[in-house]
Amino acid sequence: MATIMNSVLEGMGQAQQHHETNQGYIMALDSGTTSVRAILFDEFGAKVAQAQRSISIKYPQSGWVEQDPIEILSRQIACMIEVQFKSGIHSDRIKAVGITNQRETVVVWDRRTGQPIYNAVVWQCRRTASMVDEIVEAGNFDLIRSKTGLIPDAYFSATKIAWILDNVDGAREMAETGELMCGTIDTWLVYNLTHGVVHATDYTNASRTMLFNIHTLDWDDELCELFRVPRIMLPEPRPSSGNFGRVSSDVMTNHPPISGVAGDQQASLFGHCCFEPGSVKNTYGTGCFMLMNTGSDAVTSRNGLLTTIGIAEGGKVSYALEGSVFQAGSTIQWIRDELGLVEHASETGDIAKSVPSTGGCYVVPAFTGLGAPWWDSNARGVICGLTRDTDRARLVRAACESMAYQTYDILKAMEADSGNALTSLEVDGGASNNEFIMQFQSDLLGIPVERCEMDETTALGAAYLAGLAVGFWEDHDELVSMRAISATYEPQMDERTRAALLDGWHAAVRRTLA
Ligand code: ADP
Repeated sequence: MATIMNSVLEGMGQAQQHHETNQGYIMALDSGTTSVRAILFDEFGAKVAQAQRSISIKYPQSGWVEQDPIEILSRQIACMIEVQFKSGIHSDRIKAVGITNQRETVVVWDRRTGQPIYNAVVWQCRRTASMVDEIVEAGNFDLIRSKTGLIPDAYFSATKIAWILDNVDGAREMAETGELMCGTIDTWLVYNLTHGVVHATDYTNASRTMLFNIHTLDWDDELCELFRVPRIMLPEPRPSSGNFGRVSSDVMTNHPPISGVAGDQQASLFGHCCFEPGSVKNTYGTGCFMLMNTGSDAVTSRNGLLTTIGIAEGGKVSYALEGSVFQAGSTIQWIRDELGLVEHASETGDIAKSVPSTGGCYVVPAFTGLGAPWWDSNARGVICGLTRDTDRARLVRAACESMAYQTYDILKAMEADSGNALTSLEVDGGASNNEFIMQFQSDLLGIPVERCEMDETTALGAAYLAGLAVGFWEDHDELVSMRAISATYEPQMDERTRAALLDGWHAAVRRTLA
């Protein structure tokens, strides 16, 4: 192992060798929906090693999505062990552990045995949609929206927990007498990694449960009653950077502290150093996930965006507006798999650049309806503005552009809701490697788009939270000074062209509305 590490370090040059002997490392656990990972970061925020395992997903019925909590835990632990052996960096040099995770997914377990009483019910699961409809129809929309910042939906944790209590034999009685515990994936990991010593969550994860009052920063009795979740089973909510106990020595001999916890999108916001109000990140993956830091204001959106806890660190809480584009990279998959226009997603950038414009053609990928700011679940997609010149390249270009237009609409809604003018956009995710899309995004928004050199901003955010808590890094300034931008796209489009393109896009969107 030492030999491998030495050659890696030689390859990385002197600076790395210097700090290899210096301060140590932070381990970030990234517990996602399709895989779990453990990543080691050095004091410069550089990724030194990682281990990864995939996680299986079960679909027991149409619309139901489950995972095995023991599989998540044991594969996460396997990664923690593998990354130490792989790198030759063992727990005596790992100063802290940070956790970031898929949000909203819940586990319920027996307080006495620690055994889950049911599979994890995953964020995508729709089984409680009618439960949410009933609660909303009974007139609770405003109550839920004002306390949690969320728009009531089966996506969030509350009804998933209630479902388990209603459907596992004897569970509701056990929950009421305090014999059961529950939590999101962060809580499940912390509980088990600390050997049952700490039953806690962080404010960002708590803010996605629909049981947490984002203004008082505590569980809300009225919401617990409404969703029929006994408060006694809930974890203790804590700031994202601070004490979450120590990893038990079964897993890491020197039992380092767990000192950072945040939901994936919020960890990414932190990893991008979006510390100031008005700063925004967008992750271009299968969907797009945007978060705008709104500082101490919990802004209520007039456009159907969610209000959530963005950053809870350094003794204060920053709120955020959250919006997502349902069909982003998936539109590229569609032109690849259903239309057969390309073989690989990575070809789309060059193909799009090969023509000067789409010639007035727009693709609006409202495959499953439109989200913010339109909110029409019956909308369906269109391709419009076809002429005899519309060819493969122009269609590919229109599909690429649709990602940027949809992002534009949400960011403009965020600006309007918050009163913050965007100054730049921080980006990551698979499709952020498409230079054409990033340039077009910058042109539409009229601001620079910056892609961070680090392609693991989510894990890095968890590492930052953990490292700040133990003094591994000093403050935000130090994190900002380490930031390396791999590409900046500056706006180049003139105002008239931009306005004309946007008019065309909005006309196309209107054609999709039901
Ligand atoms: P996720 O985390 O949601 O799985 P990733 O960040 O891995 O997503 O990004 C993968 C998505 O991005 C896929 O939907 C793919 O079609 C799209 N994608 C990947 N590379 C490119 C590219 N160069 N141009 C456009 N889209 C891309």
